[in-house]
Amino acid sequence: MSLFNAKIQDVFNEPACQKNQGKDAKARNKGCSKPLTPGAAAGGCAFDGAKIVLQPITDVAHLIHAPLACEGNSWDNRGTASSGPTLWRTSFTTDLTELDVVMGQGERKLFKAIREIKEAYAPPAIFVYSACVTALIGDDIEAVCKRAAEKFGLPVVPVNAPGLVGSKNLGNKLAGEALLDHVIGTVEPDDAGPYDINILGEFNLSGEFWLVKPLLDRLGIRVRASIPGDARYLDVASAHRARATMMVCSTALINLARKMEERWDIPLFEGSFYGITDTSEALRQIAGLLVKKGADPELLDRTETLIAEEEAIGWKKLEAYRRRLQGKRVLLNTGGVKSWSVVHALMEIGIEIVGTSVKKSTVEDKERLKQILKDENHMFESLAPRELYAMLSEHKADIMLSGGRTQFIALKAKIPWLDINQERQHPYAGYDGMVELVRQIDLAIHNPIWCQVREPAPWDCQPAVKDELPSTKSETATVHAFKKFAGTTADDFGEC
Ligand code: SF4
Repeated sequence: MSLFNAKIQDVFNEPACQKNQGKDAKARNKGCSKPLTPGAAAGGCAFDGAKIVLQPITDVAHLIHAPLACEGNSWDNRGTASSGPTLWRTSFTTDLTELDVVMGQGERKLFKAIREIKEAYAPPAIFVYSACVTALIGDDIEAVCKRAAEKFGLPVVPVNAPGLVGSKNLGNKLAGEALLDHVIGTVEPDDAGPYDINILGEFNLSGEFWLVKPLLDRLGIRVRASIPGDARYLDVASAHRARATMMVCSTALINLARKMEERWDIPLFEGSFYGITDTSEALRQIAGLLVKKGADPELLDRTETLIAEEEAIGWKKLEAYRRRLQGKRVLLNTGGVKSWSVVHALMEIGIEIVGTSVKKSTVEDKERLKQILKDENHMFESLAPRELYAMLSEHKADIMLSGGRTQFIALKAKIPWLDINQERQHPYAGYDGMVELVRQIDLAIHNPIWCQVREPAPWDCQPAVKDELPSTKSETATVHAFKKFAGTTADDFGEC
């Protein structure tokens, strides 16, 4: 078995993944990818998954050794934010062509590209990604990266996760392996302290981690590395000196968190910054782990004081929305950690959950959901678009929260929709993020547009218009109806 195959099997055998441990040895070796359904959207490939996890390391040059389209597929498809460097948003690719493949020029082109990037941008590191074509023709990116690193005197990190090896989630984990093999532990910080933590699986979408970091700053807790959101190469390289790890999105980097615990004795817990209660719980757990690892126990008291202050402010702000949203019904079509943390958060202010998907959730996520919802009937593995549409058009929910892929189902059913996945425009983490989420739900549900779009079309409800035939041959019935409709006023629509 090649080293790469062994690595994939190792990732498939992840002992910290409860779903995996529920399978027998044969099923485990097959991995988690399911055969594709013809006609269904396939989701991202492993390369895409690796890129998602590593691209938010903002001062690194990310070089894709592949034909141009792979980079186009994966570039900046999440709204992560940087507080400084912008190099991560520059697209670098070797743009492999058929001629390069036929002439065996791939490795030479890659080496040249690394040199060009080093000379033009002088980044602290270059990450080199393989893709299907370069894996199929057998380009040895590890050897090229090693030689380039020696020659140019900077870290050149091979990320071996070509799309053909599996799903996006597998790519997430292979990216974690690349960090473990080539980055974390390579730099010794001179300022390591007892209040240093790592946050894993936090992507800083719409800059939402910046709503949480000030809370940690107030407690004197330093984020040594946030992987990957708004990360810097040197911070990631010295992440092994943190005293505790919080894992935010359990499925993406679980292997990295577990191996860092084994290798460097960094205790970890899984938590969430979505919702008032969960944010408080996360802060408590961070403080608890740090105290166990040597921080002053007075940190616990300071944490409780901060939680009490912030919760009081947060609840006061939310109170304004409780009256408007109490009893509103939400359908949640997302997954993973959000399936329970957002549900918990919304129920805190009296919103009713009519259903939540658990497709991407771990066994632990599902257990938490069961405890929160107290009714398994509200949990669904996955809903086909047709079922989702039926549910929404029967007005079983007042709003759907989901990712962009299903937004048009909600809009077709004339139901408000809010993006809570990676392309979202607003930050929802921490106490302020929860207030923002509720504010956005309120704005979406009470947007006056819904009154108008749910009105029957004028040509369907105005018999006079319907009955009148077009006055000229060239004027269609629809154009004629619009002319009539143009004469109506807002009052004609009445209460919605
Ligand atoms: S790595 Fe493979 S599957 Fe992924 S975008 Fe490139 S060609 Fe497509």
